[in-house]
Amino acid sequence: MNCRICGIELEDLTSKLCKKCDLTLFQILDIIEIYVKEKNPPEWLTNAVQELAWIYQAYPRTAGYFNTAVEILEIFTIFGASEIPLKEIKEVNYTSLPTNKVLSFLEEALLIERDNEVIRPGKLTKKLQEIRWEGYKMDSPEMEKKILEIHGILTVALTKSLIQTGFYIPRGALAIFDMLSHHILTSGKKIDPILSNYSIDLATIKLPIRQRLRLIRTMSGFVNGKTKIISDNTEKGEKPLKPVIIKYLEKEFERYRERERERERELL
Ligand SMILES: [Zn+2]
Repeated sequence: MNCRICGIELEDLTSKLCKKCDLTLFQILDIIEIYVKEKNPPEWLTNAVQELAWIYQAYPRTAGYFNTAVEILEIFTIFGASEIPLKEIKEVNYTSLPTNKVLSFLEEALLIERDNEVIRPGKLTKKLQEIRWEGYKMDSPEMEKKILEIHGILTVALTKSLIQTGFYIPRGALAIFDMLSHHILTSGKKIDPILSNYSIDLATIKLPIRQRLRLIRTMSGFVNGKTKIISDNTEKGEKPLKPVIIKYLEKEFERYRERERERERELL
């Protein structure tokens, strides 16, 4: 048997995923679950998802989904609409992807619900509608953070939907989660504050070279002057993680181990 996501041969024949992919999938599903279920998503999570906002924006293959999702979310969250007639969604007309495919995709991502010719907010969007905007100006730092958070949660939701519909595997997005999973699994008891180049190489080695370099350059801050996930890229080549990411990794690892313990209890 091979791992359903990365294809590596499995030693443990009772599971469908390797350890790293299991943790990657856990992170993705857990983030969405927290957003949908909890009244207010905790700060350790809202801070961390802002660091993931950029992943889909640069790739033509996923830009169609991302831009349509962004447009719909803006109408629902910033303008507070309760429904949108299908014909008013403009971005979907700019992609070469069939409208139905894009929409069923967004439905799977819990972003929309379809009702004949109108779309309504899905579970996740309803949650984002509850986020208070408090009259921030568009150019305020608070608003920038809110928008980054929305783009970040969109990134996670679309990754979930792509994997679950099996349409195609979003390798760029998965590489980032794989990198974080590998870092957790090799950290020992405490999360190592320095991200190793080995973790980055291992997670991105199978990507096309341009995509790979772009991911690393974006993380290092060369694309828009702001680093993502890491806070620096030192002369020695060391890559310290941002404190919000260390916190996130600690929490996710704790939640993952808790679930493992529950599974073991169920087996007894
Ligand atoms: Zn795997």
